Amino acid sequence: MVNGEIGEDFTLYFAQSEQTPSAVAVGVMVNPDHTVKASGGYIIQLLPGVSDEFITELEQRLSTILPVSTMVDQGYTPEQMIEAVFENETIQWLDRLPISFSCTCSKEKVKSTLISLGAEQIREMIEDTGEAEVQCHFCNEKYHLTRSDLEELLVEIKK
Ligand SMILES: [Zn+2]
Repeated sequence: MVNGEIGEDFTLYFAQSEQTPSAVAVGVMVNPDHTVKASGGYIIQLLPGVSDEFITELEQRLSTILPVSTMVDQGYTPEQMIEAVFENETIQWLDRLPISFSCTCSKEKVKSTLISLGAEQIREMIEDTGEAEVQCHFCNEKYHLTRSDLEELLVEIKK
């Protein structure tokens, strides 16, 4: 995260880490009680060989169309958002996939991370509190490791 504007941070990430010029727009509408009313967005990525002309046109288009938060508020579907961006283009829909939030973390992964810290660190945990709690940075899932879990790790290390 660079500036906390998720759309801009993703754009920067795609440009720097994946070397892919992208336009990322995300929006969320919040109810008075702070629950999420609606959220959505789009990512546009350029394939190699796109003309400068097209890029200039696209940039102009993106600066003049409705903000994505307004589209979200007005109940635009993903297809309608794309149609709004590429109003004068022929769009070919290749696929439609459901999205879900998931994380690949697991207690086994937490254990192997702890093992990589080394026996001394694990021994300190056992002496300090006799247990460990590890929270995944991505999904906030908490993993609790008991004294016997930690002792098992020490046995693993000695193998
Ligand atoms: Zn996770």
